[in-house]
Amino acid sequence: MTKLRLHNTLTRAKEDFAPLDASNVRMYVCGPTVYDYAHIGNARPVIVFDVLFRLLRHLYGPGHVTYVRNITDIDDKINARAAEIAASRNIDVEAARAEITAKTAQQFLDDVTALGSLNPTHTPRATDYVAQMVEMTRRLIAEGFAYEADGHVLFEVARKADYGKLARRSLDDMIAGARVDVAPYKKSPMDFVLWKPSDDKTPGWPSPWGRGRPGWHIECSAMGEALLGETFDIHGGGIDLVFPHHENEVAQSEAAHRGHPLARVWLHNGFLQVEGEKMSKSLGNFITINELLKDWPGEVLRFNMLRTHYRQPMDWTVAGMNESWKTLEKWYAVTEPLSDPPVGSAFLAALADDLNTPQAIAELHKGSDHELAGGLGLLGFSNVQERIAARTNVDATAIADAIAARNAARKAKNFAESDRIRDELLAQGILLKDGPEGTTWEVKR
Ligand code: AMP
Ligand code: ZN
Repeated sequence: MTKLRLHNTLTRAKEDFAPLDASNVRMYVCGPTVYDYAHIGNARPVIVFDVLFRLLRHLYGPGHVTYVRNITDIDDKINARAAEIAASRNIDVEAARAEITAKTAQQFLDDVTALGSLNPTHTPRATDYVAQMVEMTRRLIAEGFAYEADGHVLFEVARKADYGKLARRSLDDMIAGARVDVAPYKKSPMDFVLWKPSDDKTPGWPSPWGRGRPGWHIECSAMGEALLGETFDIHGGGIDLVFPHHENEVAQSEAAHRGHPLARVWLHNGFLQVEGEKMSKSLGNFITINELLKDWPGEVLRFNMLRTHYRQPMDWTVAGMNESWKTLEKWYAVTEPLSDPPVGSAFLAALADDLNTPQAIAELHKGSDHELAGGLGLLGFSNVQERIAARTNVDATAIADAIAARNAARKAKNFAESDRIRDELLAQGILLKDGPEGTTWEVKR
């Protein structure tokens, strides 16, 4: 069996991957906070971990992988948006929260489906797991890791001797460097919220500490425990989540699990920039997936993303998107997709080497086996062929058929026929090129 190696943020090293239970490989990835359209940066973890999900399914069997990607639908940014909606339409704030999160979650799922991602096994929403969050918080108080103060419940960081081990920061560094909230009810500024009170104008749920809402970090710990158990194989997300979000998940879950680890392997994707600049609303370069899908097939977006290794920072550019589209056009013109990469192929070996998608793509370029692109979720899920046809005003399927007929004629040494097919296409403005990658075509302009 192909050996899978993954870079573990916890050890800062590439390690052989061995699941706790090969009949149920378990992965949790932090999903979106839903109050607005997801941006192109948010698409990166979705695509990266979808490729890993496909690879795990290929290696262990589709029925032997459980992938959880949550939807954060309780959050203060959501509440702020809900308050605006509630005020402008004179409706209840909880109704507004439910409406905006349901709508945004559906937009997100539609967007990422258009990017060719498989549905995770479970897509839990935080609101469906509040009881588990309350229960875990109660356990943390009982075990002496958390305290109640002023309607809040806080995790007491000083009680966890190895706090900071994922981010590899000392407590002093964290206090000095982090933008932590100082609050009078906290024993230490590093202590983080497990539960906080909600006033009448803020969504809230009943709890032993009064009506309130969970903190963000406990949401993932509770959903992970409920769906994957105490310790699972892989936990993923963007690099920005290492501290404090993942550090705090580790602290809470280990404390609630008598020291048992939360996840054995931690994977983090690098950040995406746009045309060399950090994406931000103020720079006006904030690009949503939804907007891009109007101009580009989702598959082009996906392919473009995978040309950069997931751990590297990535620069998203229009030029890169155009190159990606061109390559896909070329591959579509010469190939029929096949979804399962054969064991032992260089393509599969590249993917198994810490998800080296640029190398896997280089392997696709080398051979005439573009059909392996199915392993990346490419070639065969979207309407790229139709869109190529629309863009170039040619019928890509008819060209592919003609190329196949020409190849058959050449194989039968009927060169008169193969030349006739080539000339007929040329008369329509389609230029065939025979190369090491098989026959490709382009429109003579
Ligand atoms: P959020 O909704 O902000 O919590 O983000 C959802 C996911 O997208 C998290 O895994 C983030 O780490 C990731 N993410 C956000 N912005 C970027 C970016 N510019 N590049 C790569 N990943 C990002
Ligand atoms: Zn999370």
